[in-house]
Amino acid sequence: MGLIYQNYSLDHLNTFHLSARASYFALIRQPAEMEQLAREDLFREQPKLILGGGSNLLLTGNFNGLVIRSGIQGLECVDETDESVWIRVGSGMEWDELVAWAVAHDWGGLENLSAIPGDVGAAPVQNIGAYGAEAKDMIERVEGFDFNSKTWKTFEAGECEFDYRNSIFKKKFKNEFLVSQVTFRLSKAPHSLLTHYGNLEEELQKTGTRSLAEMRRIITDIRRLKLPDIHTTGNAGSFFKNPVVSLVQADQLRDAYPNMPAYPAGDRQVKLSAAWLIDQSGLKGYTMGRAATHTQQPLVLINTGGATGEEIWKLAEYIREFVFDRYGVMLEPEVNVY
Ligand code: FAD
Ligand code: NAP
Repeated sequence: MGLIYQNYSLDHLNTFHLSARASYFALIRQPAEMEQLAREDLFREQPKLILGGGSNLLLTGNFNGLVIRSGIQGLECVDETDESVWIRVGSGMEWDELVAWAVAHDWGGLENLSAIPGDVGAAPVQNIGAYGAEAKDMIERVEGFDFNSKTWKTFEAGECEFDYRNSIFKKKFKNEFLVSQVTFRLSKAPHSLLTHYGNLEEELQKTGTRSLAEMRRIITDIRRLKLPDIHTTGNAGSFFKNPVVSLVQADQLRDAYPNMPAYPAGDRQVKLSAAWLIDQSGLKGYTMGRAATHTQQPLVLINTGGATGEEIWKLAEYIREFVFDRYGVMLEPEVNVY
């Protein structure tokens, strides 16, 4: 086992730029190190938190327990047909590095998920999604270490219980399964690009080229303009999930607010825009102490400088109550709060 650090600063491991510490911290660079860690007394005794880059995390204080991070690297092509290629990737690789690599090889599927911060290991956990694509559409299997049985397990995609920003790893196995490798199935040219979302099609047509690289560039540019940069402004992306409500409730809301965006979300369910609900509540750019909603995208809560996690959480609770009072819709955090 490499080093287990004590009283470890998590300041660089949360994109909200909050100051917090963990009682213990272990970085797993090889699968064997995970097995060794699992034999330690403190592994049995301490509450555990699995962390990647901390870009979907709000720490409201110190973590009194053991934080485990995967630093497992590796990228190999494990299978290939005329149409597809299967790649197995270490969970410690940076997500956007993987997307860039896939696009550079002209292997399709991940390009709409460009410029999402964090590690590969977190992608199946929350089934990351953006611009009409979801990680589940490309994930073939997820391998990792089960803390309870202390064995390595493989989940085929069908066993991962993927759902909207959710999976078995975020529910039953939350902080109990360290993802070590993820296998993705990517497509070879000719590609069918996902352009139905927003003005992607329009932007692509302007370029006169229908390539993965153009899609990645367009999406990266939109995100750069719309979202705060984690290097300069503490944030964890969308703080709340887009609420999914019944068709009946959505129809009632649409009667009262005809301009409200709403998207079909399966069996008599409708997805609303959390950003719209917050904006229409007059809370875009709203500031409370050292926490605020972003002026471009109110779904993103920001640390305006030196905020504590509690201050951010206080703002989040205020927004939830305000939106609930006005629309009868309870926003649920997408960010993991500790
Ligand atoms: P962390 O925040 O460290 O952890 C997230 C979850 O994954 C936790 O439950 C953690 O326990 C678990 N986890 C992490 N690594 C492992 C592992 N190896 N094994 C098991 N569990 C693990 N998300 C989207 O879905 N779409 C977006 O478009 C998007 N845009 C964003 C934009 C910005 C500016 C920011 C700051 C965030 C955005 N996010 C988005 C949220 C976030 O980037 C993703 O959820 C990302 O996958 C989190 O990766 P991470 O490594 O930082 O995970
Ligand atoms: P947007 O385009 O302003 O749209 C607002 C919301 O409406 C989105 O959250 C999206 O839901 C939904 N939506 C828009 N068009 C849709 C369509 N054609 N079909 C179904 N749903 C649609 O959103 P944005 O804030 O600029 O973000 C763009 C994309 O990046 C979104 O997919 C968003 O999820 C993702 N993103 C995620 C995070 C995060 O932290 N999770 C942060 C920034 C951006 P969906 O969210 O379900 O797509």
